[in-house]
Amino acid sequence: MHQTNTFDIPQFDRDAIRRRDPDWWRATAGLDATRILPVWQGNVLVGHNPSSRAIALDGSAPWWREHADWDRSAFLGVQDGTVWGMAALSDAAPMEEHPEIQRQGQFVPLRAAGMVLPPLDAGMVAFARALAWFHDQHRFCGRCGRPTRPAEAGHARTCSDPECGRTVYPRSDPAVIVLIHDDHDRCVLGRGRHLPPGMHSTLAGFVEAGESLETCLRREMKEESGLEIGEITYRHSQPWPFPQSLMVGFHAVATSTDIVIDEVEMEHVAWYERDWLKQQAARTDFDEGEFRLPTRISIARRLIDEWLDAG
Ligand SMILES: [Zn+2]
Repeated sequence: MHQTNTFDIPQFDRDAIRRRDPDWWRATAGLDATRILPVWQGNVLVGHNPSSRAIALDGSAPWWREHADWDRSAFLGVQDGTVWGMAALSDAAPMEEHPEIQRQGQFVPLRAAGMVLPPLDAGMVAFARALAWFHDQHRFCGRCGRPTRPAEAGHARTCSDPECGRTVYPRSDPAVIVLIHDDHDRCVLGRGRHLPPGMHSTLAGFVEAGESLETCLRREMKEESGLEIGEITYRHSQPWPFPQSLMVGFHAVATSTDIVIDEVEMEHVAWYERDWLKQQAARTDFDEGEFRLPTRISIARRLIDEWLDAG
């Protein structure tokens, strides 16, 4: 079965060609039929019902434009003939008290939205949030310091000084994420210092300047676990807009067994038996701080589950 990671939406048509028309988005964003996904304080709007959907605003509703400069909106794409966009509402706007918001849903962190929304909705709000972050981070030119203006239907920002004219685009920072295993029935999991209590995950690290994925993988795994890596296999990737990562997932075979951890980054790294992990994977209730695997929205969990299922 074809499977994608949470937040990846290959079925969504980004229709990037339309971004070339400088006036099109501005004329389209305010139409009745256009659906606008709002982002506020980094959070996304989700319906009250537990079987929730992402909540979109009518493009013609005046109130979203009161709180979101056109400057901070973008065209997302087209789904079943409907045009979708996003708007980054002013952080200072009192959105929690807004009657339209209270009636329809609530703003929640993207992680929480990823746990409850259907896959298409989760991917669209993640895309919206990634662009909101981009507009927040690039209000001023990184070269000359002058204000920037949106371009390409909100997918770029260009310096307002024509002498400079520098244009920036949303970036994704690549990170490798790796399930290390031996040739038998053991794999390596660890606890980075940022993880919730009890959670054990695959090892990961950001690609540095001038580094390939495979060189990064061997370096990061050596730093975090002390292990030497032999054969590596690319599995799949996941957009991870917290705020702008791209997780590139691998399985890798260790050619050494002794673990030496980097205590600055890692609290604990160890080998785990497949049969024991299969029991943990089947559990749903945990005591505070008890061993647990990552949540099912993460590529880490999928990399682990694929290895568990393979033996
Ligand atoms: Zn500039």
